[in-house]
Amino acid sequence: MNFHVITIFPEMFDSYLRESIIGRAVKAKKIKIKFYNPMDFCKPKGRVDGRPYGGGPGMVLQPEPFLKAFSKIKLKNKKKTKIIIFSPTGKKFTTGYAKNSAKKYTDIILISGRYEGIDARVKKVLRATGYVVDDISIGDYVLTGGELPAMVLIDCISRQIPGVLGKYESLEEERVSSSEVYTRPEKLIYKGKSYKVPKVLLSGHHGKIEAWKKGLTKS
Ligand code: SAH
Repeated sequence: MNFHVITIFPEMFDSYLRESIIGRAVKAKKIKIKFYNPMDFCKPKGRVDGRPYGGGPGMVLQPEPFLKAFSKIKLKNKKKTKIIIFSPTGKKFTTGYAKNSAKKYTDIILISGRYEGIDARVKKVLRATGYVVDDISIGDYVLTGGELPAMVLIDCISRQIPGVLGKYESLEEERVSSSEVYTRPEKLIYKGKSYKVPKVLLSGHHGKIEAWKKGLTKS
């Protein structure tokens, strides 16, 4: 899977994507993450943002630097490419969406806005050139930018790609996953009180353990 991120703040991604499972997936070439900065495509001394037509507070990101950044992305197959523009009012991102995206596409383009958002013509131009463009929200709250949403999607879509999760980990649908998990010590003492691991998990009885986990999922 190739992720292409269009953002004016690519450095924000550095530490998160370098560590742990996603970092390993990049090293193992299971996923590739490339950045395209619209700032690099502004006129000399030009600005990437402008005052909103129609008035209102805040600035709007200009369309041309974003379209120029987009034109630098090397894409092979339009049908296997998905473009996502982040917006707090977009369609809600879910694991189902991540799963579907991991299966269907080889290239996912993530466009992160800032300030009041990106000039709406970016989406219009990209749709007019035959790409599938989704407006996506990661939840009912407003962030200062689309960089965290881009990382959320990269994280969630990547773990759906075969080989990204290690051998002790696997996707929820292949097993009963649990919202309550325990490890050592068997008995935790904290401020004089003892907190024990539920007995059933120590029983070695597979059926009972699965039933216990299922019970938790439902509640
Ligand atoms: N006034 C704008 C808010 C812009 S927030 C509006 O009503 O749409 C600035 C940028 O942050 C957006 O362009 C988007 O890229 C990102 N963003 C903020 N909250 C988000 C959310 N919940 N989901 C996805 N992207 C979000």
